[in-house]
Amino acid sequence: SKIKDMSAEVVDNNPYSRLMALQRMGVVENYERIRDYSVAIVGIGGVGSVAAEMLTRCGIGRLLLYDYDTVELANMNRLFFRPEQVGMTKTDAAVQTLSGINPDVVLESYSLNITTVKGFETFLASLKAQSSHERSTGVDLVLSCVDNYEARMVVNQACNELGQTWMESGVSEDAVSGHIQLLVPGETACFACAPPLVVASGVDERTLKREGVCAASLPTTMGVVAGLLVQNALKYLLNFGQVSPYLGYNSLKDYFPAMEMRPNPQCLNPACVHRQKEYMESKPARDAAAKTK
Ligand code: ATP
Ligand code: ZN
Repeated sequence: SKIKDMSAEVVDNNPYSRLMALQRMGVVENYERIRDYSVAIVGIGGVGSVAAEMLTRCGIGRLLLYDYDTVELANMNRLFFRPEQVGMTKTDAAVQTLSGINPDVVLESYSLNITTVKGFETFLASLKAQSSHERSTGVDLVLSCVDNYEARMVVNQACNELGQTWMESGVSEDAVSGHIQLLVPGETACFACAPPLVVASGVDERTLKREGVCAASLPTTMGVVAGLLVQNALKYLLNFGQVSPYLGYNSLKDYFPAMEMRPNPQCLNPACVHRQKEYMESKPARDAAAKTK
C-alpha cells in the first residue's frame, strides 16, 4: 500500500544522537565536550537571542546572558521572543524559553547595562566566577551581540583585561549586511586597534542612532549572522574546521568578504598593548609546544 507504516520504523527521539553522529562521521573528535563549555552572550536582541537558542539546542553547558532591555512588541519582527513575553526583561524571557527547550543548560540572567560602572563590575565578576587552573575566567568564549559602539568598546575592555577570547557580531543599520569577527587579546586586532568606519569618519554614533528613530531590521539577516557566529563558536570550542578571523555578509550581492587583522602596536587601549607584549614574549614557548605535537 501507499500508506507508510510508521510503527515499523525505529524512531530515535534523542536529539543528541544526531549531534553525536558528528563524531562518527569524523567532523568533530568529541562532540560531548560541548557540555563542559560556558559561553557569555552580551546583547540578547535579534542576533544574541538566536545565538543563545542555537547553543542551547546544541547542548552547551552554561550560558550567561546580559541585556539591559525589556521585550517590546517592536521586537516581534525578529526571531525568538513571543508577544506574551512583552514587558519581561530580555534575559529573563530568554531563560524562560531556553530552559523549556533544554533543561540541562545552566542559564544565568544578568539584566544590566555593561557600560555603567556597576554594570561593568558585575559583568567582569560574572565572567571571572568559576575560573579554574585551566582558564583565567569561568567562560570559554564571549559573544558580543550588541548594537552600539560604546557597548562593543566595553566588551573589548573587559576581554583585554581578562585575556578572554571573544567574537563580535553586527548587522548594518540598513539590515542588509553584517559581519562576525574573532578577537584574541594580543594575537589579533582588538576592537580599538582598528577603528570602524563611523569612528574614522568622525561621525558621533549617538547622532547616527537617534532616539525614536528606528533602524531597519530583518529576521533573515540577523538569523544568518547568528548562524555564522555560532558556527564559528562551535568550530572554536570543538576544534574543527577553520575558525574565521573575520567574515562579512552582504545580502544584496551574496558577497562574503573574509580577512585577518593583526593587532596595532599603537593601539590606544593599554590592556591591548599589554596583551600584545605578553603574546610576543610567549612565542618561544608556543613554538616549542607546537613542535612536540
Ligand atoms: P533596536 O535597537 O532596533 O530597537 P534592539 O535594541 O533589540 O533593537 P538588537 O540589535 O536586536 O537591537 O540587539 C542588541 C541588543 O543589545 C539589545 O537587546 C540591547 O538591549 C542590547 N544592548 C545594547 N547595549 C547594551 C548595553 N550597554 N548593556 C546591555 N545590553 C545592551
Ligand atoms: Zn587593540
